[in-house]
Amino acid sequence: MSKIALTFDDGPVPGTTPTILKTLRAAGIHATFMLWGEHVQQHPDILKQAYQDGHAFGSHTFSHRSLTELEDQQIKQELARTDQVVMQVIGDKPQFFRPPYGNVDARVSHAAGRPAVTWSLDSEDWKSHDAVLILARIVRLAQDGDIVLMHDIQPATATVLPQVIDFLQANDFHFVTIPEMFAGMMEPDCLYRSQNSIEKFE
Ligand SMILES: [Zn+2]
Repeated sequence: MSKIALTFDDGPVPGTTPTILKTLRAAGIHATFMLWGEHVQQHPDILKQAYQDGHAFGSHTFSHRSLTELEDQQIKQELARTDQVVMQVIGDKPQFFRPPYGNVDARVSHAAGRPAVTWSLDSEDWKSHDAVLILARIVRLAQDGDIVLMHDIQPATATVLPQVIDFLQANDFHFVTIPEMFAGMMEPDCLYRSQNSIEKFE
């Protein structure tokens, strides 16, 4: 059996995030949501639902700026503000982060002080906005150990998710969250791209 981790960036937002949660609940699958702090502040109830459903959470920073363009202090603040709003809703802070645009280097990683998680399979939902193309990419590219990048702010993603899940299940993929994929053994100053691609920043 192959393993795959579905990850959803940029929420929580009304409409698409609740639809995605409903699909995941119906399929009995847990995913990982990379939380945009400003959106958590605006829609805490949706995060609360995701938490009650048993999903995992990473920090996608507070205001979604490219961290490689920021000073160390600003990077720390982006993470700290997100920790604060997430903590108010679920009583815990995200233990890893997904850098906006995937922009991360050794300096950013060090300032963030926690593991970075990017992806190995980009659904390109942010680019195509097209359910058929999103499904086609996943059908063509899905491999054991992949971390799949999707966005819970994209209507096409919410629409196509049931088909994505059906395809992966029919092809013997088992769904895991990011903490499950790495069995809780994640370290700061490391970049996790997939189960088989982990880079240590020097
Ligand atoms: Zn993003």
